[in-house]
Amino acid sequence: MIAQIINADLGERGICKVYLGYRTRRYTFLKDAAEALLGNLENVIIVTGFPVPPSLRPENDGPLGAIALHEAVERLGGKAFILTFDDLKEAMLPLVRGFIDRGQAEKMIADGEASLLISIESPGKASDGRYHSMRGIPLDIEGFDELFLMAREGKIPTIGIGDGGNEIGMGNVRDLVERYVPIGEKISSTVGVDHLITAGVSNWGAYGLIAEASILSGRYLLPEWREEDALKVLNYFGVIDGVTGKAEMSVDGIPVNVHEDLKSLLKDLVVHKVSGP
Ligand code: MG
Ligand code: MG
Repeated sequence: MIAQIINADLGERGICKVYLGYRTRRYTFLKDAAEALLGNLENVIIVTGFPVPPSLRPENDGPLGAIALHEAVERLGGKAFILTFDDLKEAMLPLVRGFIDRGQAEKMIADGEASLLISIESPGKASDGRYHSMRGIPLDIEGFDELFLMAREGKIPTIGIGDGGNEIGMGNVRDLVERYVPIGEKISSTVGVDHLITAGVSNWGAYGLIAEASILSGRYLLPEWREEDALKVLNYFGVIDGVTGKAEMSVDGIPVNVHEDLKSLLKDLVVHKVSGP
């Protein structure tokens, strides 16, 4: 139920068709991911950040979901760490603490200390070995997908959240991305995860995961802050809407009130499910 809501394809980018194909293969993907989250709370590494060409400013889809996930893990008694690019870290710092750098994350994974890796809207390499924007522009950046490959080798569970096909995790459904997303064969990520969550907007994927974890755990875990207030902070630091290319009150070209409304719908569903009929 929640998976359907978070896969509303308002941007008409083909993700709904990817989702419909994906759910025939793995109908319980959101529940499976929520169980993986609830069962591995000790040291959760949350990776986010998508630089948008030509400026390579970070986009505002991803960080809000990452902050919400960080809060949910800590509320459940776990420990969460955020890994991202320096410019996005600066913008997120007024909203959340608990960042680690690439070296610390690598060590935690290599030592087997990381209990779970979650990617939300992070670039995953395509078959040509490069990262691409949704429009097929190659990104000259050092991404974080190698950490997910390392984690998988070390049998550390991984969750990937994406909305376009070019993100970490979308390697699980590469054939569907190639079929349904414009220029999918060029941009589709080859990087897979144990649990992929598709969503119309990646932040919605994080909120959906938290809603599902709330239902499973019987505890309300969705964030209390307003989307608008958090977005204002990111705007101030020049974090942009990935579709419009501007620092404004929208995410993926969708006005902020729609994001708030979606969160509020998830909230109502969780309260209903947890408190019962
Ligand atoms: Mg995306
Ligand atoms: Mg997005």
